[in-house]
Amino acid sequence: MRWFGARPWAPACEPSLRTEIPTGAPCGYCEEPIEEDAFGVLLPIFSADVGAVSEQAMHAECFLRQLVGSLEHQLGFCGCLGSLAPDPPPAFTEIMTRLSLREQAVLAVGYFMKEQKKAQRKTRGAPAQRAVN
Ligand SMILES: [Zn+2]
Ligand SMILES: [Zn+2]
Repeated sequence: MRWFGARPWAPACEPSLRTEIPTGAPCGYCEEPIEEDAFGVLLPIFSADVGAVSEQAMHAECFLRQLVGSLEHQLGFCGCLGSLAPDPPPAFTEIMTRLSLREQAVLAVGYFMKEQKKAQRKTRGAPAQRAVN
């Protein structure tokens, strides 16, 4: 997998795998064209009609969104969590329907990063374990 952008945006972004920004190519997730200052990846895909492997451009947030799951999923409102999952508040659903796929991806990835940081802070901030008496 190759990546593009002004600077590495993930630990996996090795300098040798950097490629030019595919400006104008449609993102394989949100379908919006890749901007000239975008960050993202080129994913190898096999297209049956061409019978060969080609590359699909994708925004970084759209790629990461597929790894971390939707905001609904992370918040526990997702159907994949079973029938016991509560319905999201109507206001939440209403806001989400107004957002583009890409905006939803940005939110989902942002939320995930924040939660990660919180978890890291907790681990670091926790007092060292001591034997009690
Ligand atoms: Zn996208
Ligand atoms: Zn889910």
